[in-house]
Amino acid sequence: MNDYSNPINRLIEELSKLPGVGRKTAQRLAFHIINMKDEDVTALSEAIKDVKNEIVRCSICCNISDSDPCAICNNSHRDNTTICVVEDPRDVAAMERIKDYNGKYHVLNGVIDPINGVGPDMINIKELLHRLANEDIEEIIMATNPTIEGEATAMYIARLIKPMGIRVTRIAHGLPVGGDIEYADDVTISKALEGRREI
Ligand SMILES: [Zn+2]
Repeated sequence: MNDYSNPINRLIEELSKLPGVGRKTAQRLAFHIINMKDEDVTALSEAIKDVKNEIVRCSICCNISDSDPCAICNNSHRDNTTICVVEDPRDVAAMERIKDYNGKYHVLNGVIDPINGVGPDMINIKELLHRLANEDIEEIIMATNPTIEGEATAMYIARLIKPMGIRVTRIAHGLPVGGDIEYADDVTISKALEGRREI
């Protein structure tokens, strides 16, 4: 643990808090940073600071954005009657990439996962219900990942929404079970959206 001087140890410790970064990788990154040019280190640290200062959560769709409401919620050319519900801001980016979808989004920021202590009140479901009470929504597309938790979350939300008389659809399994929308290719996402069904 204390093989290096304090500033290096501190950097290694902070880097190893990042997802997918073990101690060895953190050490490699730390020594890479030490050897970087001063201006590159400054640019890196400023970018990290700025992303925290300048990125906000959209108060309508809960997506991350540099404005509130976000550009998608603010876009009057988009279909106001359809909301695509996704787990993560990265899923919005993936859906936007295919350019086939013109509705709005809602970012849950997670899925219901009782084993890991995530209950329905810990993701943005009440924000979605608030929108349904205040906006004129005709269809909700459940685009959570095709994992056990993603399916369960889609079913849970569908059960809450259906009594409101809103059409609830689920994207088809063009996506591999256990997979991640974020990493799917464009054709797969396109097919999945095309083949959505009532749940
Ligand atoms: Zn928004």
